[in-house]
Amino acid sequence: MFRTNLQTDRVSSSQRSSSKVDDATVVGYTNIMILIIFFFVVLVRLPRSFARFHHRSEWRSGHFLRYVSVSKKAIGEPAPMESDSLSWCDIVDLSTDGDSETLVPEKSLSQRLSFPDSSVPPHVPSCAPGFSRVLKLMHKRLVPGVSYIHLAVMAIWLGILCFSAFYQANPFTDPHRLGWIAVSQLPFVYALGTKNNILGFLLGIGYEKLNFLHRFIGRIVLISVNTHALGFFYKWLLVEDFRGNIAKPKNTAGLISLICIDCLFFFSTAFWRRKSYTVFIATHILSLTVLLFALLFHYDGARPWIYVCAVIYLIDLVLRAAKTRYAAATIRPLDELGLTRVEIPKINSGWRAGQHVRLRVISSGMGLIGWTEIHPFTISSVVNGQEGLVLHCKKVGKWTKSLFDMAKTSGLDEEDRKVTVLVEGPYGGLGNRIIASFSAAVFVVGGSGIAFATSTVQDLIRKSLKKQSRVKFVELIWVVQDPSSLVPMLPLLTAMIQDSILTSMAVRITVYYTRATIGKFPFPDDFFRFPSLAISPGRPRMQPILERVIDHTVEEAISKKVSELEDTTGLFVGVCGPVSLADSVFADVDRLDSPRRVEVGGIEVHEETFGW
Ligand SMILES: Cc1cc2nc3c(=O)[nH]c(=O)nc-3n(C[C@H](O)[C@H](O)[C@H](O)COP(=O)(O)OP(=O)(O)OC[C@H]3O[C@@H](n4cnc5c(N)ncnc54)[C@H](O)[C@@H]3O)c2cc1C
Repeated sequence: MFRTNLQTDRVSSSQRSSSKVDDATVVGYTNIMILIIFFFVVLVRLPRSFARFHHRSEWRSGHFLRYVSVSKKAIGEPAPMESDSLSWCDIVDLSTDGDSETLVPEKSLSQRLSFPDSSVPPHVPSCAPGFSRVLKLMHKRLVPGVSYIHLAVMAIWLGILCFSAFYQANPFTDPHRLGWIAVSQLPFVYALGTKNNILGFLLGIGYEKLNFLHRFIGRIVLISVNTHALGFFYKWLLVEDFRGNIAKPKNTAGLISLICIDCLFFFSTAFWRRKSYTVFIATHILSLTVLLFALLFHYDGARPWIYVCAVIYLIDLVLRAAKTRYAAATIRPLDELGLTRVEIPKINSGWRAGQHVRLRVISSGMGLIGWTEIHPFTISSVVNGQEGLVLHCKKVGKWTKSLFDMAKTSGLDEEDRKVTVLVEGPYGGLGNRIIASFSAAVFVVGGSGIAFATSTVQDLIRKSLKKQSRVKFVELIWVVQDPSSLVPMLPLLTAMIQDSILTSMAVRITVYYTRATIGKFPFPDDFFRFPSLAISPGRPRMQPILERVIDHTVEEAISKKVSELEDTTGLFVGVCGPVSLADSVFADVDRLDSPRRVEVGGIEVHEETFGW
């Protein structure tokens, strides 16, 4: 398309002595090259997509939130208590020590779900056996949050663009080529920055995992545009006609584009994202919109690329609107954890475990602009449950603090505060990775990262009940600051353990607290007398934990090996919390010997960090 639209520009650009080839053609072929590599990667990952979508229910889940009525007939009997399971009375007794308001026993999962029979999902390893060493190396962290895979992708992208910049051209004497590179990279910047990310969808990866590339290409565009502009400024200064040139409408539009790109960069820095996320978002939306209009007037040849960006942006806006639900929510403060539990009963389906939504609270209690803000939170409940969509929002900044304060001021005749919310999503999550296809799963979560673990473990229990899971062991490690953090989550965690008894999957939960307790320990001495739930001071030592899970998994496979199905199909490690936690888990997994990895069928780490 760009070829036909660029006839006039091609004539002018091909007439330039410094450039022997047409700039439009060079950047066009550059993008074709990038797309070929991209589709090759998609092709390599295709077996995983097939594995994920082999089950019909997967086609509908993870795209749009909805409400389904949970049939009363479908609800099963309460899970029977076994001798080695936790006593429910213990939990109720605790209400005298803890916050009785928050200590509401959860309904057991088996009470909430129906279990039609089905088959286990196929397991597709992330790479062919011969490449596992390379992949292990690639997962190593270079700097916090950045692995060698990230580095390799960025290096390849940069290499291709450098070739494109210097191919029969000298960007230092002829600034045109860099302008072309900048504009031709914009569709990638837009596509990778959208929540409804087509590239992520094809790769089977959440949009947030590709954010590093959005930023990286954005920086390439920034450098290209600034060098392109400086080249022209220099030329105009040499002929002493800067004012005359900049006053020309197309150059004024170019200057506006330059200001937009520089503003985008300036307000995207970590300083602004931390200081005011609202300023970061507002400048992003404003600059990206003005930029497209300015570029339309700057250079005719840029138009096809601008139209592509506009289409990507508009599709994203339409999908965001289509994915937004207006609902009533109940908010409740969980003091021990310093977070607000948001419960939306009228949205109870449509997401996949591990996904997040973006929440807007329409209430004057959120402050003057608080109600306009939209914040991402991981869904912590299981689909088709009676409590609906549940979020746990940690009090960290102004918005989450307003939410917490509002939750504390409950209504006159009701226990919990009701608010109106706009929920957008679901987004992100595990992509094409199917936890139920692994032999074992370890979750390492910090603070409010428990949301990720509760939704995924409950989902695994449900799948195990339906005979749709291969997972035999689940080890959940929750790192909190204070042991009392466990109190409000205890009903849910014990319900999970209780439900797992009905399945062929063993669930073990250990809570690590990192601060010394002040005053009375919140649990009676004999409370943790069963191995399924434990509490321990300090930080977890992941190496022995991983070794133990591998041992159990391998032993189980050997003892029960009656069919192919019983072969070990790998260990899934999910980590959710600060970047430092994710980095340390990656390092611990990396230290495991190769034979151990092979024994268990490979190890895959999935990380969810609350920010970028
Ligand atoms: C994919 C994802 C899932 C998350 N899930 C959870 C969860 O389940 N529970 C939980 O407690 N927290 C979660 N968070 C973090 C949560 O979104 C932020 O803590 C919250 O938005 C902070 O808002 P604030 O105004 O109170 O704090 P601020 O002080 O304004 O922000 C603190 C930090 O949060 C980030 N942040 C702020 N606003 C936004 C926004 N609109 N979008 C993205 N990041 C923002 C910024 O990096 C900022 O540095 C998640 C974040 C992401 C990206």
